[in-house]
Amino acid sequence: LSARLSDVLDKLTRRGALTEADVGEAMREIRRALIEADVALDVVRSFTDKVRTRAVGAEVLKSVTPGQMVVKIVNDVLIETLGGEGQAIDLQAVPPVPILMVGLQGSGKTTTTAKIAKRLTDRFGKKVLLASLDTRRPAAMEQLAVLGKQVGVSVLPIVAGQSAVQIAKRAMDAARFGGYDVVMLDTAGRTTVDEALMAEAAEVKAVTEPHEVLLVADALTGQDAVNTARAFDGRLGITGIVLTRLDGDGRGGAALSMRAVTGKPIKLVGTGEKVDALDDFHPARIANRILGMGDIVSLVEKAAETIDAEKAAKIAAKMQKGAFDLEDLRDQLIQMEKIGGMSGVLGLLPGMGKIKDQLAGANLDEKVFKRQRAIIDSMTPEERRKPEILKASRKRRIAAGSGTTPEQINRLLKMHMQMADMMKKMGGAKKGALGKMASM
Ligand code: GDP
Ligand code: MG
Repeated sequence: LSARLSDVLDKLTRRGALTEADVGEAMREIRRALIEADVALDVVRSFTDKVRTRAVGAEVLKSVTPGQMVVKIVNDVLIETLGGEGQAIDLQAVPPVPILMVGLQGSGKTTTTAKIAKRLTDRFGKKVLLASLDTRRPAAMEQLAVLGKQVGVSVLPIVAGQSAVQIAKRAMDAARFGGYDVVMLDTAGRTTVDEALMAEAAEVKAVTEPHEVLLVADALTGQDAVNTARAFDGRLGITGIVLTRLDGDGRGGAALSMRAVTGKPIKLVGTGEKVDALDDFHPARIANRILGMGDIVSLVEKAAETIDAEKAAKIAAKMQKGAFDLEDLRDQLIQMEKIGGMSGVLGLLPGMGKIKDQLAGANLDEKVFKRQRAIIDSMTPEERRKPEILKASRKRRIAAGSGTTPEQINRLLKMHMQMADMMKKMGGAKKGALGKMASM
């Protein structure tokens, strides 16, 4: 037991960069989690490769173990791969905008068609026409008619004996004539990918030129997810995915599989049988569900926040003493990159609000932060502490080292001087107030 304990303690107190061994060990656990979540095997492989590249050499945060750090990186890459922010259905086209719904039978196409129609009507005030192209099962057409009535959306009248393409054409004509904004075409599906039905859907696509082709897929799909997504995307060129049955107890690995294979965004998720059980896609939620390590992720996030807060406090103290050097500016730039903006950082630093306006005009976007950081990275420690020694020849060296120009270096130095000046002034004149703030 004591050997294990010291092993754990050893892990807990380690610092520095993640090694190949750290990452390799953590990856075994991660791979198992992904496979348990039903992520397709070849996707697991390419995904873990991607994570390995990102993780090896990454800095381990204080008070976090290498294994925990890897989990956090996996989570970040997972969210990124799943698509960062969700994407809405795109209706930017001349109405009536056709939306083609495709997918295997039982995946939830007909239900989802009604759900989306309801959402477009209720939230966006669109006039939507529904049409069932499922000529093989009369019950399927009836099902859409019932759902349409339930959500208060028009459904194209059923005409016996027409082909899917004929119905699609009729739907487009009716929509044009009736002044509809959107036409949703619900297609037939088989339990496996089927060539005849694929050809039929392709023909409907050619005739209607849909603005969105949405693949409706069951979140409980396991290894098949890759084949299904590949087949539909390859043949029909899907524009997005709707993942249904997220209310079930599946871990949602299909989301990662399908997204990885097609590169197409997951636009919406179905969360129940009812017509309002439709949600926007939240990559972070699915990532948590797939990985099943939310506790570790939030632990690492907390550790990162603590470190940021400690650094901010240190910088604030230095500011008050008027000893804000380029090393401090560098720390601050790193935080700006992390937090993604000036206001976030200003919120962390007492007294910084004063110079907010001045800096706001300086066009401080992320690229600028990165460039400024590169400049400081190319300086020697002495130069960072004493920027006044930076004469032309040093600036040329730094410019070459950071891929910038002496003018850009001058701009950075000027900004730093203004900041340091302002801080000195505040430290002198308002020591009382700032002192109070710092001790609060
Ligand atoms: P289609 O064959 O692709 O048109 O699939 P349907 O729309 O007919 O749906 C098949 C079954 O799945 C129906 O019983 C639906 O109520 C159910 N269903 C669809 N979406 C969801 C969902 O998000 N969650 C749950 N629990 N059931 C769903
Ligand atoms: Mg159906």
